[in-house]
Amino acid sequence: MSPNLDLDLSLRFPSLRPPLPPQYSQPPTSTLPSQITNEESEAITRPNNETSNNQQQQRRRRRTRADMTRIEPPYPWSTDRRAVVHELKYLQVNNIMTIKGEVICKKCEMKYEMEYDLMNKVNEITRFFEEEIDSMHDRAPSCWTNPNLPNCSLCNEEKCVMPVTSQEDTKINWLFLFLGQFLGCLKLRQLKYFCTQTNIHRTGAKNRLLYLSYRTLFRQLQPFTNTQQ
Ligand SMILES: [Zn+2]
Repeated sequence: MSPNLDLDLSLRFPSLRPPLPPQYSQPPTSTLPSQITNEESEAITRPNNETSNNQQQQRRRRRTRADMTRIEPPYPWSTDRRAVVHELKYLQVNNIMTIKGEVICKKCEMKYEMEYDLMNKVNEITRFFEEEIDSMHDRAPSCWTNPNLPNCSLCNEEKCVMPVTSQEDTKINWLFLFLGQFLGCLKLRQLKYFCTQTNIHRTGAKNRLLYLSYRTLFRQLQPFTNTQQ
């Protein structure tokens, strides 16, 4: 990634406009360079030679590139691409305004469903970005690395409700985790999976990967024109 790209991304990120109603006009063509760092996607599968060494190298490469085969979208707000959610415009047009996810209480151990109003949460997170972006320095703040857990609506205990995340990577409820600001509850392996599938350079500390994951989901919801993912 060039220094210019990094700078540009940092500057553009907090200035995203608040969500607009479905009728909103197309945003102006952005000069934002592609957010994709292709360093990893440039890896080319080489012919499989005799040695198991080569086979191991191939497997490693495959794990660091997005899998572009289509999947059955696991939620109405998911696309048929791994770790990619629909943009706000699509969700609004299709009246998908409530985002649900499964949670479990650490105290009473009950599993149940929580839901978020899409626009309320997007607006809340947009405001948070705008206020905090300067102090983030491309790293997730502590409220993302150690998520503020909600209170349990069943046993009324405080800060004890965790999201239930699917063990199958293709079924992780990314939008719910984003809206609840629960991404920090994921394992590092799952964050790396997200970064791989969305072509983010996936090396770095967890707070760096978390920051990039929030930024990427934000952009999936409100893409600039011509961002090539
Ligand atoms: Zn409970």
